[in-house]
Amino acid sequence: MNHLQLSSLNLFSSQTTDRAPEQRSTETTLACLINSESSRFLPVSGTNVFVRREASGYRAALLSLIEFEKTFGVLVDYVYLGREFDQHYFATIVEENSSNHGEFVDLRSCAALLDERHAALLSYARAILNWRKTQSFCGSCGARTVARSGGHMLQCTAPQCTREHYPRTDPAIIVLVEHGDEALFGRKSEWPEKRYSTIAGFVEPGESAEQAVIREVAEETGIQVESASYHSSQPWPFPGTLMLGYHAQAASRSISLNDKELEDACWLSRKQISEGLATGRFQLPTDISISFRLIEDWYNKKDGESLRTLRNRYHKDG
Ligand SMILES: [Zn+2]
Repeated sequence: MNHLQLSSLNLFSSQTTDRAPEQRSTETTLACLINSESSRFLPVSGTNVFVRREASGYRAALLSLIEFEKTFGVLVDYVYLGREFDQHYFATIVEENSSNHGEFVDLRSCAALLDERHAALLSYARAILNWRKTQSFCGSCGARTVARSGGHMLQCTAPQCTREHYPRTDPAIIVLVEHGDEALFGRKSEWPEKRYSTIAGFVEPGESAEQAVIREVAEETGIQVESASYHSSQPWPFPGTLMLGYHAQAASRSISLNDKELEDACWLSRKQISEGLATGRFQLPTDISISFRLIEDWYNKKDGESLRTLRNRYHKDG
């Protein structure tokens, strides 16, 4: 598989997992893989993933079949995630149980302490299992569904229906809007105190991502966007969103909080941001998010100390 430049990838983007769809084709192939010594199992419980604490942070706790079944019982349902190097990975929903092999931790809270490969693998497992958990019944007729294709498809069991259901990912836009030397920041009331971030929202049916950028910025801040360029994307497994990141130019400056989704919005210069970080009046989004990347790439266009250096000096706890 082709690997993109690491610098263009955001956290949770898998670059080493081969999803190996050919391995999902028959139950016999999957049964052989499950019993293979090269297979590893990733237990997930609700929003929690199974990890091992190490001096430098966390690693995914990847269990052999014997280790898995001793701790969580017989494997009855799973999703085949794919292979990485010489190992095949399966994710499965479990009831939490104490184990010498690891502990359950919320993915969002441990993501910054995982290496990028394991963050991507656990994000993939959590997102697809969340879809599985919510699709036990057919959305068309209400009958039970049954897993096919290594857990990547759920098929309705009603003979008159048999509808196939596939994993869904919800597209959302996230955008850093510039005007002159300033960028537009918004704040939601439920965020940690003093945190400001870029503007974001879900793409609606019948809408392109670029149209969603224009609409969301106008709805939330009253600002008119005159141009937008694509930056990068990030799978955001809380629970199953694909964030499409943009940089945009504003045609106007006057802010009005039209849809009340934000409790505050403002234009900030680089100087105001660095002063805000130094005095604790302003906090950036977590650096695992594409919002941080969008702000960082705008901020660092001007010479001087990088945004990450500044942030690490004043907000080490993230
Ligand atoms: Zn059905």
